[in-house]
Amino acid sequence: MRAVTAFALASLAMLSSQPAEARALDHLLSTDDIGLNKIPHQGTSNILVIPVHVGEGGFPAGQLADLQAQFNPDGGSFRTYWQTTSAGRYDPVPTVVAPLEYPDRCPLPGKTVATCNVTFQDVQLITSGGLRTAFEDMLGRLRDEQQLDLSSFDINGADGQADGHFDGVIVVSNIADGVAPPLDAIFNGTTVADGGGGMITLGVVAMAPPVHHEFAHMFGLIDLYGGPPVNGLMSESSNAISAFTRQQLGWGDVVEVTAPMEIELPPVLDGAPRILRVAAPGGGPRYVLLENRSGEHHGDFETGTPGLYLYSVDEETLADGPLHFLDLVSGQLRLPNAEAPYMNVALPVGCDLAGGPNGCALTGVGTSRTISHADAGDTGFTVTIVDEAPDGTLTVALSDGSEVPAPGDGEDAGLSASGGCQLGADTDAGWWLLLPLLIRRRRAA
Ligand SMILES: [Zn+2]
Repeated sequence: MRAVTAFALASLAMLSSQPAEARALDHLLSTDDIGLNKIPHQGTSNILVIPVHVGEGGFPAGQLADLQAQFNPDGGSFRTYWQTTSAGRYDPVPTVVAPLEYPDRCPLPGKTVATCNVTFQDVQLITSGGLRTAFEDMLGRLRDEQQLDLSSFDINGADGQADGHFDGVIVVSNIADGVAPPLDAIFNGTTVADGGGGMITLGVVAMAPPVHHEFAHMFGLIDLYGGPPVNGLMSESSNAISAFTRQQLGWGDVVEVTAPMEIELPPVLDGAPRILRVAAPGGGPRYVLLENRSGEHHGDFETGTPGLYLYSVDEETLADGPLHFLDLVSGQLRLPNAEAPYMNVALPVGCDLAGGPNGCALTGVGTSRTISHADAGDTGFTVTIVDEAPDGTLTVALSDGSEVPAPGDGEDAGLSASGGCQLGADTDAGWWLLLPLLIRRRRAA
């Protein structure tokens, strides 16, 4: 089974016209493939939003009005979300183009209007370049029918300059949603004439809704659902990003805790995010992050209890390779949070984001908690909330036992592996199962 899987993927790789670059959807363990597998996450970007409707009736007017409001560059929720979440370090300016109508045909080759969607049975679509064909069709129509200069959607890149790749493309259609296909990594990327005399490359696309979660995949963020709770966008679409993602995107200041200290933690969504990082015993890729998820903007973007959150991170759970988002052995979508050692979970493992006796959030002056990794023992530090300002800023004391922390209420949740919470299924969970299905079909052929 392993040999067959490896062989089939090697066959896929041989179909690629160019060597695949570093990592797709790897939670930005590497950022060096921005411009092909990932979109820029710093500075100002121009985002292309394409409504697409296949079949009679046209793109629903009410849905279009909602999109135009959501993606209104002047105050719409999409731009505001990312401006706020990034603390002003990333500013995606969206443009919703006129809907592309396909009343009597499907842009996916070999499909009819009635079958114009992507299902587990569509395994031939990817190896035949079907997604590439569809996106070439859409982009060509925007360029030729709407006289859209596609180069206007490339003003950013890894170095902040236009780089020949789209800054970000979102498709809202009745073909597929809940997925962000890393097109180049699955050999369906495409380069088209931009209508302004140059060429432009589409290496990754977000098919929404959900908008923010799928958009974030294009930064290189991997799914984190399927395991213990974590109040992060890649686990819960109803939340903003959590500390590990913020660290990876460079959207906050990270303070290493190596000695006892007392420090202010402003709410991370209120303009001056600060994250504390405590190494696990032995250091390396395992550590614990702390952040303050409360404040003025918390209720706008978050559903969890406001307070101080701790996370166990283990970067070793990420593997290399452009198809890293797939588990090549099992043929399943790879979910690095599904089982220990977890990539990024809220502590204590299995805690309740909604609060209560097993709540994740630490709340209230005097509350303290031992800082332990999910599976690597104590860090030697204890955190205690020693003050809370009216704006939500928390002052916390980190103690390593060489001094006594401020008197608290004695809460020390420690760690448990009870895993009591069940996360809702993410809509894009099963989409990539078509690849292993392809493998099995080839094997049978
Ligand atoms: Zn996802």
